Amino acid sequence: MALRAAATGARRVLSQSILSSLLKGKYSFYSTASLQDGDFADIVISGGGMVGAGMACALANNALLRDKKIVLLEAGKDSGDFTVPDQFSNRTCALNPSTVRLLSSFGAWSEIEGMRCFPVLRMQVWESCADAMITFNNPDMSEPLAYVVENDIILASIMCALKNVKDQVEIRYESKAVEFNLPGTDKSEEAKLPFVKLTLNDGSVLKTKFLIGADGMNSAVRNASGFHTLKRQYGQSGVVATLMLGEGLSNTTAWQRFLPTGPIALLPISDTMSSLVWSTTPEHARNLQELSNESFVDAVNDALWHEREKNEVAGKLLNGFKSVLNNILPADTEGMRQLPPTVIDVVEKSRAAFPLTLIHSSQYVRPRIALIGDAAHRIHPLAGQGVNLGFSDVACLNDTLTKAVSCGADPGALTHLLQYETERQRQNIPVMLTIDGLQRLYGTEFTPVVIARSLGLHAVHSMPFLKKMIMERASA
Ligand SMILES: Cc1cc2nc3c(=O)[nH]c(=O)nc-3n(C[C@H](O)[C@H](O)[C@H](O)COP(=O)(O)OP(=O)(O)OC[C@H]3O[C@@H](n4cnc5c(N)ncnc54)[C@H](O)[C@@H]3O)c2cc1C
Repeated sequence: MALRAAATGARRVLSQSILSSLLKGKYSFYSTASLQDGDFADIVISGGGMVGAGMACALANNALLRDKKIVLLEAGKDSGDFTVPDQFSNRTCALNPSTVRLLSSFGAWSEIEGMRCFPVLRMQVWESCADAMITFNNPDMSEPLAYVVENDIILASIMCALKNVKDQVEIRYESKAVEFNLPGTDKSEEAKLPFVKLTLNDGSVLKTKFLIGADGMNSAVRNASGFHTLKRQYGQSGVVATLMLGEGLSNTTAWQRFLPTGPIALLPISDTMSSLVWSTTPEHARNLQELSNESFVDAVNDALWHEREKNEVAGKLLNGFKSVLNNILPADTEGMRQLPPTVIDVVEKSRAAFPLTLIHSSQYVRPRIALIGDAAHRIHPLAGQGVNLGFSDVACLNDTLTKAVSCGADPGALTHLLQYETERQRQNIPVMLTIDGLQRLYGTEFTPVVIARSLGLHAVHSMPFLKKMIMERASA
C-alpha cells in the first residue's frame, strides 16, 4: 500500500512538473540527478564541416530554440581567423538557390558575398559520342542558376555567422566522441535513460537530448547507430584543379561534357578562371596528376574540344529527330550550342584527386539521433548536388524541430524525426538514383544506348517547360 501510494505520488509530481514546464514553454526531460557525472547540452552536433556548422547556425537562429544549449564537436583544428587568400582554392561547390536562401536566413550569405562567389547564368551539357546537348538558363539570364563558392569560404562565412550566437553555440575543436551510449542500444540501466551519453577523446562525458551526426562520409555517429549503409565505389576519381582561361566572352557558363570515361566539368569562379571537376578512371586520374602543367592543359582542352568518332547511326537518327522537332517547336535561340572556353594554364599545385563513392544510410534517424549531409548520403559530383542536399537536410531538420517544440514535444522523439527521414529520403533517393543512372548511361558507347540518350537529351532540350521543371527540381 505504502509503495503504491509513493509511486502514485511520484507520478503526480512528475506529470505536474512536465505540465508546468510545458506551460512555461520549456520541456525538459531530465532530472538533475539523471544528468549528473557529465556535462549537458540540449543538442550536440558531431562534425563542424559546412553542413554541421550550417545546422548549428540554423538552430541557434531558430526563435523557438533560443534557450537551448548547442555544442558543436569538430575533430579538426581551429584554423583561426579567416582571410580570403589571393589564390582560389581547388575545392568549390555550386550552391543552388535554396541553399542561398538557407544561408541568407542566418546571415552567412552576406558574409559569402563580402568574401568571394561567382554566378552561373547558363549551363551547357553535351557528349562526345553524338551531337546531342542540353542547355539551362533562366529567362533572359535574369537570375543565376547557382553560385560557385570555395568550400573554405562557405565554412568561414558560417563560422562568422556563428559568432553572432556564440552564447548559445559552443564549438569544441579537436574534439570527438570515442564512445557512444545510445538509448536502447544495450541492456544497461543507463541506456534506458532518455539521453545520449558521449565519452569524448579527452575522457570527459557529454550528455545530450539530441545528437546530430554531421561527421561526413565515414560518420562515427552512423556507425555507432548501427544503420545499414549502402556503399559503392564508382570506380572513378574526381580530379580537381583551378584553370586559367583564354580571352573570350564573359565566363558565366558551367560546362559539362560526358566522355566514355566520365564527365569533365568547368565551373566559373571569376571572369578568367574556372574550377575543374573531372571524373575519370583512377589510373587516368593518377596520370593527369603526374603530367607537366602544359601537358595537363592540353589534356583538358582535348577532353573539352576533341571531336571524337561519332556514332553514325545515332547521328543520323538525331538529325532526323531534330528536323521533325524544329518543324513543330519554336526555335530557342538561348539554347544554341556555344563553344567551350580554351584553357591556357593551370594554377600551380591546384591539382588533386578524390575517390568517388556512393554512400547511403538506409535510416537517417533513431531515438535522439539524426544524420545530415554526407553522413547520411554521399553522391557523385556530376550534378553538383552533394552539399546542396546536405543543406536541404539542415532546413528540413530545423523545420521538423520547430514543429516538435511548438507543440511541446521532445525534439529527440522518434515520431517527429521519422517525418524528417521520410521527407529527406523522398528527395535524396530519386536524386541519387538519377545521378547513378546518368553515370551508367553515359559510361557506355553501345549504339542503342547512345541513340536513346541522344534522342532523350535533345527532346528535353527542345521543350522549355521540361527544362524549367528540371531546373526547379534541382534548386528545390
Ligand atoms: C570532387 C568533388 C566535387 C564536389 N562538387 C560539389 C558541388 O559542386 N556541389 C555540391 O553541392 N557538392 C559537391 N561535392 C560534395 C560536397 O563536397 C560534400 O557533399 C560536402 O563536403 C559534405 O559536407 P559535410 O559537412 O556533410 O561533410 P564533410 O565536408 O565531410 O565534413 C565533415 C566534418 O566532420 C568532421 N569529423 C569527421 N569525423 C568526426 C568525428 N568523429 N567527430 C567530430 N567531427 C568529425 C570533419 O573534420 C569535417 O569537418 C563535391 C565533392 C567532391 C569529392
